[in-house]
Amino acid sequence: MRNFFQKIMLFMQGRYGMDALNGCLLILAAVIWTVNIFIFPRIPHLILMLVQLGLTALVIVRALSRNIVMRSKENRTFMRVYEPVKNWVTLTFKRIRDRRDYRYRRCPMCKAQLRVRNVKGKHRVRCPKCGSEFDTKI
Ligand SMILES: [Zn+2]
Repeated sequence: MRNFFQKIMLFMQGRYGMDALNGCLLILAAVIWTVNIFIFPRIPHLILMLVQLGLTALVIVRALSRNIVMRSKENRTFMRVYEPVKNWVTLTFKRIRDRRDYRYRRCPMCKAQLRVRNVKGKHRVRCPKCGSEFDTKI
């Protein structure tokens, strides 16, 4: 068994491996695969199957690629889109979770998201990140 892992390690040496982009492509492929179970017409089913197989193949090709510079560049481009989306989803989730006790406000100076106690009226808020103060209304 140990020998098997050593062989894999040796095989993966100098190859790119997994990153956030590959992870997302794999999840997307899994989602398409799951949805496709419920799609019965032949042609759409076939098209989705090809898309899913194509995504899986792309992940394998990227993971085994020796062109690490190019693959990292692709991942960075992907992260530029993915990060804001992820942050927005996280913030929206927090807003919903804390909606009874807190409101979220953006600091006008450093753009940090601040949690303000949900008390009606005007508040003076001090940003813990940059120290600037500003007024906000709830
Ligand atoms: Zn600030």
